[in-house]
Amino acid sequence: MFSIGLTGGIGSGKSTVADLFAAHGVPVVDTDAIAHHITAPQGAAMAAIREQFGPEFVAPDGSMDRARMRALVFSDETARKRLEAITHPLIRYETERTSLAASGPYVIVVVPLLVESGTWKTRVERVLAVDCSVETQIARVMRRNGFTREQVLAIIARQATREARLAAADDIIVNDGATLEALSQDVDRLHARYLALAGSAGARG
Ligand code: ADP
Repeated sequence: MFSIGLTGGIGSGKSTVADLFAAHGVPVVDTDAIAHHITAPQGAAMAAIREQFGPEFVAPDGSMDRARMRALVFSDETARKRLEAITHPLIRYETERTSLAASGPYVIVVVPLLVESGTWKTRVERVLAVDCSVETQIARVMRRNGFTREQVLAIIARQATREARLAAADDIIVNDGATLEALSQDVDRLHARYLALAGSAGARG
């Protein structure tokens, strides 16, 4: 199916934009939700995580011990790569499976780290970036998650820069000081465009 990779930094408004596409009847596949699902009890990644990281990284309910794993991969690059070697192929597989099973004119795949994690750009037809200033990101995430300014900055520092994201994008939604009404109109315009693109891609076979 014709697919659009939707990306943006934390607090840029990805979920808000994805919801607006969903309101048009467009299926939305959220790679964060899939990442969570495969590390939930009986999740597809759990056997490999237990085997490679040890049972101490598995919570009593059989899910990944997220706090413990976060602490490890934050300070240990090799461990982060090992974890990603387990989870990334499963996330890609599940995303593809869910996209193929979805019905709609095209699919929106939400990939927060599309720019950071290499191969996504080649797996979608187009990249749509939601853009806003770092100050706006900070204000939104402090309000939404109750984080401190420093906590938000630490997360932003681990993500791609605004410039790198914009350079990777085919389409951009500016969500800075935009009313939800204006945002919704931007989505309407892009939806019309994507319908046309998906239609001609479908006609070409
Ligand atoms: P992301 O998924 O990129 O982290 P969200 O869509 O969750 O971002 O947006 C972050 C927060 O900012 C949410 O609480 C959301 O409701 C709010 N928000 C996003 N865009 C706007 C906007 N244009 N006007 C007001 N609030 C917004």
